[in-house]
Amino acid sequence: MKRGNIAIFVPHSGCPNACSFCNQRTISGTLKAPTPEEVGKICEEAFEKNTVDPENTQIAFFGGSFTAIDRDTMVSLLKAAYPYVESKRVSGIRVSTRPDAIDAEILDILKKYGVDSIELGIQSMRDEVLLKNRRGHSSEDVRKSAAMIKSYGFEFGAQMMTGLYGDDDEGAVYTAKEIVKLKPDTVRIYPTVVLKGTELERLAECGEYEPKGVEESVKLCVELIKIFRDANVRIIRVGLHASDNVEGEAVGGAYHPAFHELCEAEIMREKIADELLKYEKGKYDVFVNPKDVSKTVGQKRKNIVELKNIGYDITVKETEKLKIGEVEIKKGER
Ligand code: SF4
Repeated sequence: MKRGNIAIFVPHSGCPNACSFCNQRTISGTLKAPTPEEVGKICEEAFEKNTVDPENTQIAFFGGSFTAIDRDTMVSLLKAAYPYVESKRVSGIRVSTRPDAIDAEILDILKKYGVDSIELGIQSMRDEVLLKNRRGHSSEDVRKSAAMIKSYGFEFGAQMMTGLYGDDDEGAVYTAKEIVKLKPDTVRIYPTVVLKGTELERLAECGEYEPKGVEESVKLCVELIKIFRDANVRIIRVGLHASDNVEGEAVGGAYHPAFHELCEAEIMREKIADELLKYEKGKYDVFVNPKDVSKTVGQKRKNIVELKNIGYDITVKETEKLKIGEVEIKKGER
């Protein structure tokens, strides 16, 4: 069963500084933190739609730095959400926060109010990158808080970014490998999107920073996806969530509404190319599971065109006999 969540955004609350890339108000599309009453209203609205599977749905406090907001507000939001956990209408509560906003007292509170997953905005494991992007925490903070989260038995999620100011591909690969060492259950990979009103926009305008585009970010994220898959870390997102707010506010960087799909298409193209290269050039039928057809073809038939350019004229055919991710190649009879 697919997992889902009832998303509640807590924008910019509790942030001790403004990270170079962040304009949470843009991402969440809302200016102020919700009240406890609003938390209840958002949940009730979600239940009314009748799409909530209690066993696989969490109430998720996204954005901001949940555990850094003032204690009374944090507890009031948790108190508003906890009855839904107690009555088993949702499976638990998910929060995302900063690595330097975790300690034993906070974790005790989160446990008490039904939180079962904590995501840390790690972004980079290179201290110089964290510093340049005004994160206000170190890689050591990440290691300490990740170890504490795991020792308390929470599901631990890691969030990382690529293409930050002062970072490069090597740095992103290093970050992914260091994150694997922390043994996260889940990961989100966010290629940097330059948003209006951020420090990154200013740096890009004065030529200090050159954002990475979609194509080069896809190549890098494909490498990162492989690192996490090899380590059995569940990837729950690659690329910023497609929304009008982001689309209207993005002024550079790697925004694409289907960024993850682009990465999966590239992984499929590589896989098929590796197989085809065992055969002579010519026409081939490529069989895949019906769910893999669009990533096999690629956006705007990109994969078909690129394989043709290296001498392989393929026709994609679907078959239920193959599992997702499996590929079978037969000489084409055209
Ligand atoms: S800590 Fe998170 S929410 Fe706060 S400014 Fe940085 S990225 Fe934005």
